[in-house]
Amino acid sequence: MCFITDFIKAHTRTERHHLVADQRAKLNGWAPGTYHSRCFSCDEEFIGGERAIFCADCAYGTKEHP
Ligand SMILES: [Zn+2]
Repeated sequence: MCFITDFIKAHTRTERHHLVADQRAKLNGWAPGTYHSRCFSCDEEFIGGERAIFCADCAYGTKEHP
């Protein structure tokens, strides 16, 4: 029964991805911010605006496809 521990674990798990907040301007479903979300296009996690549905790379069309 330790909510603090769970909170720290959640944040530690997030930081393990080494996600970096993209600072590009709002565009096509992307918006800069501090929310941890998942891209509807490439399904990768990203840090962006509360209402962002795409990562910056997908919104800007610069996502590299293997
Ligand atoms: Zn994406």
